[in-house]
Amino acid sequence: MNAEIIAVGSELLLGQITNTNAKFISKALAEIGVNVYYQTVVGDNPERLKDSIQIAEKRADLIIFTGGLGPTKDDLTKETIGSHIGKVLVTDEKAMASIEQYFSRTNRIMTENNKKQALVIEGSTVLPNDFGMAPGMFLSQGSLSYMLLPGPPFEMEPMFLNYGIPAIKEKLEIVEKIESRVLRFFGIGESQLETEIESIIDQQTNPTVAPYAGNGEVTLRITAKHHSSDEAERMIDEMEKRILSRVGKYFYGYNETSLIRELLKALEKKSFTISCAESLTAGLFQSEMASVTGVSKMLKGGIVCYSNEAKMKLVNVKKDTLDTFGAVSKECASELAENIRTLLDTDIGISFTGVAGPDTLEGHPSGTVWIGISIKGKETKTTELKLAGNRNNNRVRTVKNGINLLLA
Ligand code: ATP
Ligand code: MG
Repeated sequence: MNAEIIAVGSELLLGQITNTNAKFISKALAEIGVNVYYQTVVGDNPERLKDSIQIAEKRADLIIFTGGLGPTKDDLTKETIGSHIGKVLVTDEKAMASIEQYFSRTNRIMTENNKKQALVIEGSTVLPNDFGMAPGMFLSQGSLSYMLLPGPPFEMEPMFLNYGIPAIKEKLEIVEKIESRVLRFFGIGESQLETEIESIIDQQTNPTVAPYAGNGEVTLRITAKHHSSDEAERMIDEMEKRILSRVGKYFYGYNETSLIRELLKALEKKSFTISCAESLTAGLFQSEMASVTGVSKMLKGGIVCYSNEAKMKLVNVKKDTLDTFGAVSKECASELAENIRTLLDTDIGISFTGVAGPDTLEGHPSGTVWIGISIKGKETKTTELKLAGNRNNNRVRTVKNGINLLLA
């Protein structure tokens, strides 16, 4: 919801008083999350007030007026708004009673024009004036809401806080649908992602885009507010499109999904089976897969081949390969992936071999990892990673990278 404040009063334009009401109202609205985009000041002139209303209606959902609710001739706010929106003024009995009470309490004679103060726009919710006579009003028409408040700050401020704000809050809950969507990315760091989309999210207030990073993944939560859920969804769609036009190649899924869930979906679609030879990850990939229900159709099994001996004895890696290239090599990853695939007769074989750290291995620094992917009928592919995390971090990221490669 965004609001515009229209302060009515020629004294404001003449520089005789300061518009403290706008400041007060803006601050209170900010505290409940209502954006104020414009503050207008207009004199006690019905034509110009009408013009101001028309302009405000184009750019705000809530228009808050202060001033001009009094009994004198120049007080014409409610009359002008009433005629503008096609509503008559009616006497509010409660307001009338409290005005009469006010006069008898202060021993003053009530004049005819004081009765004018009990007039309110028909259909509006009356906001009681605990420190004066003119009641405030709140009313909605279509998607627009109007609030009328008196000018004197000692009347306006308590009225706004005690009755105005609660009415707006109530309205907010009815009119404002908040929708959000999480976009999940892998293979791009938080700061790089933010840099790529900086100009899109800069100054963005609706929808908002909030990044969050953890475990090698980055998420962006897009949140939109609108009167209609459909419209909020449309705003999110549009924002998503703009974001993905820049960083789409790192995007892998929405909301509560995870890389492994996406992988299982993709495998299921193709009815593919998978097997795995794991050195540095030592079963982490299979454990990750097994954490999702329905995995048994796809995961046939795998081997933890931590030592070179295990790589040779259990996965048939050639001694020559290990002697010539070492375990941390493209060649070893390749053989592991191909051999496990044939051993277990699956569509896909994946392997992980590398240096979890912190020590170096075969002269390779910590975080050097080779992933092999062998797919039936296709050439085996290998990918080298250079990770910079600690031991467990590197193992977790290796698995995620493997899943991401399978998804590609
Ligand atoms: P009244 O019943 O006193 O006539 P009203 O609602 O008609 O109240 P105005 O006549 O517009 O309000 O203003 C009354 C007084 O309230 C002004 O003389 C001024 O002191 C104060 N006031 C009005 N508008 C503002 C404003 N925007 N900021 C600060 N003070 C204001
Ligand atoms: Mg007045």
